[in-house]
This record gives sequence, structure tokens and C-alpha cells, in this order.
Amino acid sequence: MASTPELQHTVGKSAGFTGTALHTGERVTLRLHPAPVDSGIKFKRKDLQDEPTIDAKIENLKTVERATTIGEGPVRVHTVEHVLAALWAMGVDNAVVEMDANEPPIGDGSAQSYVDLIRKAGVTAQEEPRKFFHVRDTMHVESKTGTLIILLPDEKFRISCTQAGPNNQFSQFFSMEVTPAVFEREIAPARTFVYYEDVKPLMDKNLIKGGSLENAIVVRGEAVLSKEPLRFSDEFVRHKILDVIGDLALVGRRIRGHVVAVKPGHATNAELARAIAREQTRRSALATPRTMPSGDGGLDTDQVMQILPHRFPFLMVDRIISFETETKCVGVKTVTINEPFFQGHFPGHPVMPGVMQVEAMAQVASILLFKLAKTTSRIGYFMSADEVKFRKPVLPGDTIFIHAELTKSRGERLAKAKCHCVVNDAIVSEAELMFTFLDK
Ligand SMILES: [Zn+2]
Repeated sequence: MASTPELQHTVGKSAGFTGTALHTGERVTLRLHPAPVDSGIKFKRKDLQDEPTIDAKIENLKTVERATTIGEGPVRVHTVEHVLAALWAMGVDNAVVEMDANEPPIGDGSAQSYVDLIRKAGVTAQEEPRKFFHVRDTMHVESKTGTLIILLPDEKFRISCTQAGPNNQFSQFFSMEVTPAVFEREIAPARTFVYYEDVKPLMDKNLIKGGSLENAIVVRGEAVLSKEPLRFSDEFVRHKILDVIGDLALVGRRIRGHVVAVKPGHATNAELARAIAREQTRRSALATPRTMPSGDGGLDTDQVMQILPHRFPFLMVDRIISFETETKCVGVKTVTINEPFFQGHFPGHPVMPGVMQVEAMAQVASILLFKLAKTTSRIGYFMSADEVKFRKPVLPGDTIFIHAELTKSRGERLAKAKCHCVVNDAIVSEAELMFTFLDK
């Protein structure tokens, strides 16, 4: 029996609260709004003209000094990690975080005020399943300052974290599965901690106008200074976990894996998020349907031959199996020992010539061009190939999945396509092709 897929969630209704911005010390109102499926978390700057939004995605990460800043164009939002951690850990996949300043209210330096806000807004299921990143092979990032983060395969999202201050003082360890209940109880109340030597210069320069012992724990030598006593004896490591969750939320997919972090910081958290995003892109590029769909999804051999003038032995596409968008499609070619080129390339050691793979890419790209131009009276002629790489031999019996994506079309006459061929989940060849259109 198939288990019901985990669904995406958004907030039930809009809700907000007002507080102090850490860096400017100004009043800021933050409001959460429901958002459609697959839209992810977006920050909205209500104080700016046209109210621009920024996707909370790793590609929008700008800086990681002390806090995490994201931006698009000239627009920035600072210190996003605590609100992101709260949304992500409390199960919110899609939401608009609207603010009338460039950073959220700092609250008490923990994620408590955001969890309270999410509770007020409610969390509601949507109709599409969640997107996951399942860790297959162990990944790791490390820094020269002694940070090490390892990501291991796991069916759950777990974090095990070791924190240690200068000279290993305040060494703490905490391990948990990230669920809404555990996060709310064990992690959300843990406050930011700072070292006096680090914040003193910032205070002198008036760069943290909103900072006070009400929203951070200050460590000065052996002394721990804060307005209220420590909430947990190991509050520091719990806050480190909070930051890891918030920074990894920038992946935009639910991680299924075990994060083992030693002395983590925003920079290495972000580096891991980047590595995950890169791996996800690689997997998406290699993901190919295992069955050949029929009907509207692609083109059968007949339809391919109505578009392409090529015939045996020069037709290098059997079918188009899918059009992802108007500018992206995947074709398939089954290579048999009966291909004429194997007779001479090479007897006793049959390998598909690389130029035939380039020809196959050009033919799939031509089909995209045809679909875009919507006419059979003109045909795209192959002009040049750049960045051509042959990575692995293609042998009789292989099925080649030919990916093509139009990246540029300059006016009516020129177009560029990025292509690659995949066999058994490995890229065997790739090229950037240029075309010109001519009348038939
Ligand atoms: Zn933090």
C-alpha cells in the first residue's frame, strides 16, 4: 500500500507583531501571509516602492557575517535565519513574510516570538506533496576555523551538534529529530549568544542599536550576562541548531538526512545549503522518465519525422519523451549494433562516434526551434558547437536521453541551445549549439 504523501503547508491566516530591529533599533512590524503551493518562503519589503519580494533561496544569499542576509537586485533583508527556522521547523513550506523594514523584529533573540506568531496564524495543509532532498551519499563541508558539518543519509531530518567556545569553554552537545513539537519545546526558546569582545566594537560604532541584554546573552570571559537566567544549561548549542535549521531552509526542500555539526556558523551552514542545491540540480538534470509516455507529453517517431527532414541512417532521435517547457525537452535514441557507423567505428570495438551524439543533440534542439517558430517552412541550421565534451563511451544497447534547452534566441535569425546526453544516469556528452534559421 502506498503511504499518503506528506503535503505542503502554509499559514492559516495572516498574523503579525511589532518589535525592534536589531541593527537599526527601529520599530518593525512583521506579518505572515498564506502563499500558494510551490511558492516557498518569500520576504516582502512593504516599506519600499513596488513592495519587492525576495525568495528565501540559497541563490539569493548575500552575506553571512553574524547573521544571514538575502537579496535580489539592490533589495536586502537581514537576519532572516530565526524566522526561517521557525517557519520551516513548524512545518510551513509556503508563506509571505511581510516587513516594513530591512530586518525582522529581534524579539528576545530566540525564535519564540515567531513560533507564537505561527501558532496565532495556524498551519494548514495544501493540495500538493512536499519536495524532499534525500541524502544518498555522505556530504561534508569544513572551514579553517575548525567547523565541520557532515550530512549523512537518514529517513528523518536530524541534527546532532557540538558547540565549543574559545579554549573549549561552554562545550555542549545536543541531538534531536527536527519535528514541530521538539523544535517548539527544545530549540525555539534558545537565545542568541555573543562574545563581548565581538560585539564591543559594533556597539562602539553604533551598528547594533537594537541590541541589549534583553535579546542576547553576552559571554564575557567566564561570565554569562543576560536579563533572565539561562533557559537551558546547554542553551548555546540549542541556538546553534536553530541557526542551522534556518540557514538550511534556504535549500527550499525538506532534508531527509542527519546533520552532524561541530562548531557550525552561518558561513559553513550556507556552504552546505549550496552543496545540497548543486546536488539537487545535478539530480534533476539526470532525472529521466523510466517509461515512455505517449500522447500529448512528447512526439512519436512519425511526428519527429514530420518536423525533421533527416532519414535513416541520419535520423538520430527515436522520440521526444517530454517537453518540460517551451524551451526545454528530452529526446531518446536507442543505439543498436545495427547502426551503420559501428561497421567502421571500430570493428571489434564498437563505440558511437562523438560527432553522432552532437548530431543527435542538434536534432533535438531543432525540434525545440520548430516548436517555437511554429512553422515548417523554415528550418534551423546548425552553425557551431562550443564547449563540446565527450565524457564516456556510448556502446551498442545503450539508450541515450538527449536533453536540450534553448538558452538564447537573438532576433529572428539566431538561437543557442545547451544540450547533454545521458546514459545510465551519467552525462556522456555535452555541447552548446548555435543555430540560424533559413527558409526551406
Ligand atoms: Zn541565531
